[in-house]
Amino acid sequence: MKLYNKIINWLKKLFELEKYDFSRVIFDKEVIDAILELAQMTSPKEFIAFLEGKQRKKILRIYGLAYQEYFANEHSTLAKINFPLTSSIVGSVHSHPGPSNKPSRADLHFFSKRGMIHLIIKKPYTEKDIQGYDTRGNKIEFEVV
Ligand SMILES: [Zn+2]
Repeated sequence: MKLYNKIINWLKKLFELEKYDFSRVIFDKEVIDAILELAQMTSPKEFIAFLEGKQRKKILRIYGLAYQEYFANEHSTLAKINFPLTSSIVGSVHSHPGPSNKPSRADLHFFSKRGMIHLIIKKPYTEKDIQGYDTRGNKIEFEVV
């Protein structure tokens, strides 16, 4: 039995199934505020930042934002950007300087590479303009505390 569990755990790690196993996503208010500010500041350019968080039991909590300035424009391909190699990075956020927060093909490709949650914020960059997605591009709801 022990060996069986070991094998299961090993397989889970191998396919990284474990990390998608959360039922709630909670953002610290400061993170959301920082996202709104960055989106407004960088507009009409896109910005991208990485979400720092931790999963405990079934709750994924996002408590930080890792932001690197980069040369962005409306045609930038997010897929070209690699995740920082920090273990606390659980996803990304980027802005669309337009009326849609739906992921583009390049976005979906990027989402599938790593992370647990990805946000897109559209104009006019209020909290309601933020949409969360999982690695497959399905919508994810989140709470703000
Ligand atoms: Zn995009």
